[in-house]
Amino acid sequence: MHDADYYKNLGFKSGLEIHQRLATAHKLFCSCDPNLAEEEEIGKVERVQRAVAGELGLVDVSTSFESGKNRKFVYNSFRDATCLVDTDEEPPHNLNSEALETAMLLAQTFGCGVPDEIEVMRKGVVDGSDPSGFQRTMQVGYNGHLELNKKKIPIPSIFLEEESSGIVSQDENTVTYNTDRLGIPLIEIDTDPVLATPQEVKEVAFKIGMLLRLTGKVQRGIGSIRQDVNLSIANGVRVELKGFQELDVVDKIIENEVERQINLLKLRDELQSKKAQVGSAVDVTDVFASTASKVIKENLRGEGSVYGARLKGFAGIVGFEINPNRRLGSEISDYAKVSGIRGIIHSDEDLEKYAISKKEVIELENRLGLVEGDAFMLVSGQSGAAKEAIERAIWRAKMAIKELPLETRAVDSKNMTSRFLRPLPGGSRLYPETDAMPIEVDKKKLSSLKKMVPNIEKTSRNLKKDIGNAQLAEQMQKSPQLQLYNTIVEKSKADPKFVAAFLLEKMKDMRRSGIEVGAIPEDVLIYIFEGYANGVVTKNAVEEIVKALPKGLDEVDKIVSAKKLEKISGANLRKLVDGMHEKDKGALIKKIMSKYRLNIDGEELNSLLK
Ligand SMILES: [Zn+2]
Repeated sequence: MHDADYYKNLGFKSGLEIHQRLATAHKLFCSCDPNLAEEEEIGKVERVQRAVAGELGLVDVSTSFESGKNRKFVYNSFRDATCLVDTDEEPPHNLNSEALETAMLLAQTFGCGVPDEIEVMRKGVVDGSDPSGFQRTMQVGYNGHLELNKKKIPIPSIFLEEESSGIVSQDENTVTYNTDRLGIPLIEIDTDPVLATPQEVKEVAFKIGMLLRLTGKVQRGIGSIRQDVNLSIANGVRVELKGFQELDVVDKIIENEVERQINLLKLRDELQSKKAQVGSAVDVTDVFASTASKVIKENLRGEGSVYGARLKGFAGIVGFEINPNRRLGSEISDYAKVSGIRGIIHSDEDLEKYAISKKEVIELENRLGLVEGDAFMLVSGQSGAAKEAIERAIWRAKMAIKELPLETRAVDSKNMTSRFLRPLPGGSRLYPETDAMPIEVDKKKLSSLKKMVPNIEKTSRNLKKDIGNAQLAEQMQKSPQLQLYNTIVEKSKADPKFVAAFLLEKMKDMRRSGIEVGAIPEDVLIYIFEGYANGVVTKNAVEEIVKALPKGLDEVDKIVSAKKLEKISGANLRKLVDGMHEKDKGALIKKIMSKYRLNIDGEELNSLLK
């Protein structure tokens, strides 16, 4: 890990864009259920949208990237979660007032001013994730800030908007979306790009997330909050990182991104000093007419082709590791993959791994005009896709000599790196939504909401008091489970310390061992903890139930009786102890607990034996 001076000298600047789904009774502009559907889709809407210039490719940079293809978008609809508003066959209904209230609360939470009138706007969406081609959005806050370690971080704007559709699958011609997600109220919070170190980005992301949860008005669970990080260094370019799964590794991933840019700049200088060039695409399909390479043979089936290109002066550079397990070749490969092929093969790789023969390599070198110090790359696949892929790869290789491309990159949490997702979009175009009237802000409401603005210090004091363990309380305050904790404690009346420890430790262990505890509905958890609070089951049994629980409230009782988890207490416990006929207290406890660990509360047994 580098220190703050290191990043200062690099001219590191970073900002956050946080998207959080709000917990409301219905969607933003219709009365549909704002939760992801659990049932199968009930219908489909298909739309053909002509690929807008620059959608996949890189406008103004290379026209060869324009596919010009007509892509088909398929929208799955759901019984309770999709209506005609979502599929853009009916104008929006009235704005969800509950969502607006929460947005006004959040605006004030981050010290923002709220406009006198909220104006609904349309923001163009080109990736097809909205059947209407735009997303409704409205600014609900301006000129706010967040304080972190005495530093004031400007939050220039907060927006309330519609969530986009969730992508289900995509291939060369069709993209399929689920519309259950579309239109869920979403809040967007942006910071200015003033964050000075990767560590600071992580801390600010944590703090914003915590404040959002402290309001108690946001959705929980996977995907309900998304953090995008934009960053740049003085000689590098602005890049946006998307898709962080866990905040714990945000700093590490940013460190690697900085490293990537530094390494690519080094390689650029080296390529320039070698007067590197990239040749045009050459059809080399015939070289592989009787190849032993399984990968290439498979790609040549039907209408397949192999294209190659000379990388003059690139020897040793295509294979240079710029990030853990990522080379310049991986960067080039990412661009080729946009065309639906599996990636590129380059000469800095072990070609025997692909079973490409020495003879084929010599033939290729001749055909591409290679000399000492050169490298080559190959793309194979169905003819159209392969041709497009090699052009994209050539474009990226040429950029390696010139500059870093402006990119939106997808985070790979496992490897703590990122890969090219699409070119960085320009500023979004906003235009008025003519189907929705401006909304006058109720000043009285606004000031009554001000009283609900969460107070971190107060929350911290209360948690410490309730949980009775400072470390656990602090962990709880920072945890995404805080809202769930509050609800469970309030509704089940179970011991706060037990609930906190269970959510933070036991459930984390279960998640790690692959049990999908995140899918357990809130009311089911409340029911289980109620069972514990009312003496129906023991602490140990709570764990057993949650582990065994697939989904649904009625299952809990079935698990309890099937696994014989009913609590044994009071007179029944006394009867059990008497029936053991064991004089030695230690031996008795051992004997009884080994058999009834899940049914007996250890403390009760102890006091009974006394
Ligand atoms: Zn709807």
